[in-house]
Amino acid sequence: MKEQFYEGIRNRLEGMKEAGTYKQYRYLESPMSARSQIKSKGDVLVLCSNNYLGLADKKELIQSGIEALEKYGAGGASVRFICGTYDIHQELEDKVAEFLGTEAALTYTSCWAANTAVIPALLQPGDTVLSDELNHASIVDGCRLIAKGVNKGIYRHSDMAHLEEKLQEAKDSPVKLVITDGVFSMEGDIAKLPEIVELVRKYDAILMLDDSHATGVIGKTGRGTEEYYNMIGSADIITSTFGKALGGAGGGFVAGKQEVIDLMVQVSRPHLFSNSLPPVLTAIAKTALEYLMSNPEIVQSLREKTNYFRKQLKDRGLNILEGDSAIIPIMIYDAPKAVSLANKLFEKGIYVTGFSFPVVPKDEARIRLQVSDALSYEDIDWASEVIQNLVD
Ligand SMILES: *Cc1c(COP(=O)(O)O)cnc(C)c1O
Repeated sequence: MKEQFYEGIRNRLEGMKEAGTYKQYRYLESPMSARSQIKSKGDVLVLCSNNYLGLADKKELIQSGIEALEKYGAGGASVRFICGTYDIHQELEDKVAEFLGTEAALTYTSCWAANTAVIPALLQPGDTVLSDELNHASIVDGCRLIAKGVNKGIYRHSDMAHLEEKLQEAKDSPVKLVITDGVFSMEGDIAKLPEIVELVRKYDAILMLDDSHATGVIGKTGRGTEEYYNMIGSADIITSTFGKALGGAGGGFVAGKQEVIDLMVQVSRPHLFSNSLPPVLTAIAKTALEYLMSNPEIVQSLREKTNYFRKQLKDRGLNILEGDSAIIPIMIYDAPKAVSLANKLFEKGIYVTGFSFPVVPKDEARIRLQVSDALSYEDIDWASEVIQNLVD
């Protein structure tokens, strides 16, 4: 009997290999930076990390992690409310709230944990959640965890007429929660916050914004999608990650009104039943946030490099998706071509990822570049030239 089970698994894996979707690791042997060491390959230029601000190897972050390990040890071996809360958890949460201008914040071990915690905890039978179809997988899963009797609707990507239709249908729900990514990871486009906020006001709904690819990246000082549109304070609830621009080590958070945070402390399940954010990660995240707050010019520098990279690629005739985020998709339209391009680039020393169906729609295969402030202008010139030569 068991043999069938394992054979079934082997067949599924074989199917993935045949379909070309089977993923394999490459092993890093150095910190994440503009250039990193990959095992059996050597030095590569990294254009596929979320290390947008180049903080992952900053000495201030590393030092604060070392100090936290020495002061607090590995961890509390506990969840927050038993004996896993450190003073630096509160300090980091106060810092997040100060940064975003919210009343309070709460950390989780990842933004994945935050989204799967917050969505089911907020909603009760009769309420409705409405989610953009391109929202991150953690929002999709968070929506799957809602209680029986909570209604769920998916609206077409950034389609405001469709969102309005869904809000209209849900008009009798006591709570209508609209959830959107700030920056969408595959397209690099930014949520239409002004229109969403208008609809949310019109239908007396609640807005939750997941700014994981936006925090530290967009808005003049890196405060994300709200700041990008000059609309600070317009989302009711913000979730985001420390695992991208804010150091890249890991951790996530939710920020909003005090009563929302208080409720999460009382009822959100990853908070109640899973270990707290390790002190070393808490310290690194706090240092990353402090670094960003006292050096806001790094956001401007990233924006200038991104604009420069976009222009270089366009001037060389490459078909990029327009946008204002640090994600630059180059459209290839053919899945085997996109995969082979990513492999050829890797051979030349440029690390990018190729994406094809089902991660992106059929016939929309692409390679995705992510800009980091760690890159130099010479790196960008060189990468643009190599990409152009390989695409033709
Ligand atoms: C990356 C990402 C997450 C997951 O963040 P982790 O902290 O790595 O769990 C959640 N939401 C969005 C929109 C993301 O891009």
